Amino acid sequence: MAGFRVGVDVGATNIKIGLFDGEMALQDQMQTLTDPEADIDRLMDVVVGLVRRLLSKNDLTLDGIEGVGVALPSYIDYERGFVVETRNIMSLNNAPVRDILHERLGVPVIIENDANAAAVAEHEMGAGVGFDNMIYAQLATGIGGGLILNGKLYRGIHGMAGEIGHIFVSDSTGYPCSCGVTGCVESISSGAYMAKYATDRIKEGYDSSILNYAGTLSNIDMEAVGKALLTNDSLALELVNRGAEYLGRMFQSLNQIFDINIFVYGGGVAKLGSRFIDRMIACYRHHSLIDQHYPAQFIPAKFGDRAGMYGAALLLGPLE
Ligand SMILES: [Zn+2]
Repeated sequence: MAGFRVGVDVGATNIKIGLFDGEMALQDQMQTLTDPEADIDRLMDVVVGLVRRLLSKNDLTLDGIEGVGVALPSYIDYERGFVVETRNIMSLNNAPVRDILHERLGVPVIIENDANAAAVAEHEMGAGVGFDNMIYAQLATGIGGGLILNGKLYRGIHGMAGEIGHIFVSDSTGYPCSCGVTGCVESISSGAYMAKYATDRIKEGYDSSILNYAGTLSNIDMEAVGKALLTNDSLALELVNRGAEYLGRMFQSLNQIFDINIFVYGGGVAKLGSRFIDRMIACYRHHSLIDQHYPAQFIPAKFGDRAGMYGAALLLGPLE
């Protein structure tokens, strides 16, 4: 039997860590809040501390594991093991994360973009099992994704393939995106920007039950919008129609480029419920040129917010 391995997912909100056996069965897991302001030493201290605690809790030592895979919300330079760019944990930028962790843990370490890791987990063990070609779409606070082409993760030249949130879908809708462009699907259909849109409308005086469900303006999230939607709240309906339309366009572009019609989706935007998802799929089918001949499958992700952790562990290498 192959040895144990550890998967870590460093997100903007939480750091999650899982211990897997040689057959990738999850044995134990822990998580802690991320301090996005922490400097790189402190951040690495937290990761190293979590790895050590998880192992000792399970009567294991670093000698007993094959390695540690780390998913990061970042563009990665795979050759050098560097983070090239991250928008929400600034201290990761230009940090040699792989080598720092390898030096401190003394075991093999790999680093990977979180959405790519999630795509691998869904493809190998989750909702995408059996499909040689699939696209994983993370519809969350931001919008990310990963491409599985011919059975393998496709990273592109700079490891940035699958950054589907910055597909351009409109020249007149949405806010300036975090990347600086106006019209990215992320700036219209992501959880963060849909919440911002709802907040801004309510601040302007729009009377919406979204605020009742959220409690305060700063608490508006997709769960509150989802609840308001069930009462046919008009602002929630507007958000759904708007968000779903542009996601439909995004999936249509992806289908047009790759001729792939297996879409696995995960992330908190799914909390908007089936009305949103059904509308998103209908918008895709409306825009697609080939869907009537080859209907796309939209499949909910299996691993939810643990996909990055699973994928990071899987990417350490083949199971024996
Ligand atoms: Zn953008």
